[in-house]
Amino acid sequence: MIHLDYIDREWTTATTPMVCMHCENPTCAQACPADAIKKGEDGVVRSALKPRCVACSNCVLACPFGVPKVQIEMELMMKCDMCYDRTSVGLRPMCATVCPSQALLYVTAEEARRLRRGNPVNTFRFGNEEVRTMVYLYLPQGQESLEVEADVVNDIWRSSE
Ligand code: SF4
Ligand code: SF4
Repeated sequence: MIHLDYIDREWTTATTPMVCMHCENPTCAQACPADAIKKGEDGVVRSALKPRCVACSNCVLACPFGVPKVQIEMELMMKCDMCYDRTSVGLRPMCATVCPSQALLYVTAEEARRLRRGNPVNTFRFGNEEVRTMVYLYLPQGQESLEVEADVVNDIWRSSE
C-alpha cells in the first residue's frame, strides 16, 4: 500500500517510496463525507472502512502528500495503514521488513537519531499550513522542518497519475 514517486522525472528515473505519514490532524479523514477514515489511539490513520467508503476521492484531493488512492473497480480508497494487521501484533510493517538497505526503518524517533547521521523531522509546511506527522523523514543536521514548495507538490501529483 505504499507507492513510488519520481524525484525529478525530467532528469532522472530515481524514485522514492511514499508511505502514509499518519498526520496528527489527518486532512484525509477531515475531508471524508462518510466518516470512513479512522485514526486509532495509537496515532495510526487507517485505510477506508469498506462499508462506509463511497469512493468520492475527497481524501485523494485533501492529502498534502498524495497518498490515498481510490480503487475504482472496488469503489474503495486504499492507503498505507502501517500494516496494522502486523504492527498490532508486534511485527514490523512489511515495507520496513523487506527493505534491503533499511531506507525505511520502523523505530522510535530517538532510536532513529542514534542510528543515522541525519535529523528525523516530522514537521512540514505547505504554504501557511503546518502539518505534523507520526512518520519522520531524515533531513540534514540542523534542519528542523521541511517547506514543501508548490512545484514539488505538483510533481508529486503528476508522478502519481
Ligand atoms: S499523509 Fe495523507 S493519507 Fe496519510 S494521514 Fe496524512 S492526510 Fe491522511
Ligand atoms: S474516497 Fe472513501 S475514504 Fe476517501 S473521502 Fe471519499 S468516502 Fe471517504
